[in-house]
Amino acid sequence: MIDLRSDTITQPTAAMKEAMMAAPVGDDVFGEDPTINALEQKAADYFGMESAIFCPSGTMTNQIAIRVHTAPHTEVICDEKSHIYLYEGGGIAYNSFASVRLLHGDRGRITAEMIQDNINNPDDVHAPISTLVSLENTMNKGGGCVYDFKEIEKISQLCKDKKLKLHLDGARLFNALVAKDDDPKQYGKHFDTISICLSKGLGCPVGSLLLGTQEDIKKARRVRKVLGGGMRQAGFLAAAGIYALDHHINRLADDHNRAKRIASALDGLNFVDSVLPVETNIVIFKLANNALSVDFVEKLKQKGILAVPFGKHDVRFVTHLDFDDDMLEDLIKKLKAI
Ligand SMILES: *Cc1c(COP(=O)(O)O)cnc(C)c1O
Repeated sequence: MIDLRSDTITQPTAAMKEAMMAAPVGDDVFGEDPTINALEQKAADYFGMESAIFCPSGTMTNQIAIRVHTAPHTEVICDEKSHIYLYEGGGIAYNSFASVRLLHGDRGRITAEMIQDNINNPDDVHAPISTLVSLENTMNKGGGCVYDFKEIEKISQLCKDKKLKLHLDGARLFNALVAKDDDPKQYGKHFDTISICLSKGLGCPVGSLLLGTQEDIKKARRVRKVLGGGMRQAGFLAAAGIYALDHHINRLADDHNRAKRIASALDGLNFVDSVLPVETNIVIFKLANNALSVDFVEKLKQKGILAVPFGKHDVRFVTHLDFDDDMLEDLIKKLKAI
């Protein structure tokens, strides 16, 4: 099977497993797991941020950040395609009692101007209090597109002026960094909190990190405990993260090149209406003749290709660590034969 459903399906490599088994561990709820402490420090330093906390999933790191930055009667401003809104089970309401203001961005990327137009008057008791802006980079639903850093700078300045917090859902931030050759420390400078996933393109079995100030991460530890995310000898998992930060960032460029190859192969095939521009490791295409994505994905499966329906007529492929050049050639041959 050529499995392109997600970059979460990867198996840990032999070298990663070796690093995991060799990890010194301790009870992380007591703050005594040396490998988790090392991973948190390493990730915080990488982005030039003060502190970090290791969590089981990106949903948890996002939800903790939202809980730390908001309160009842407040509002989160984000794009309508955001993972925090679409794919986290209504967690913003459930965990934080906060309201959501959904903007219609360019493939999920919102601008400072759009945000400015959607900040409520804090003296108007009818309206929730605008408190947090959340961006996503790369943007999953937008086909893995990447923010222009100049826009992020504008948004960050606006948030400072208006006293709003700024969170980044960076589940695939490393893909954005590699695609644009941006400086991770610039990200650390402009966001209050950043969530990164180790279990996506970096190829770890489990884990995400929330990065932020010492004060916010201290609050995050309390929220993580309440959510049941305090783990004990989880340094075995953190060791995979350390290994991935050392060895799996630069290779993301290979995933991006393969995604581009897939997109150009799809372009012009008779079952394809259009392909979103590919910037990173996600390829989203629309089927011709209003064909249903669920049916098409089933047809692909019979040919040994796994993908996910991504909307009624849209299909998503995600390239990753376990998808190599031989599989790419095989995939392209199979797609052309449909
Ligand atoms: C995968 C993902 C997350 C987190 O997902 P988990 O499966 O909970 O780790 C968050 N945001 C985006 C954009 C994602 O793609």
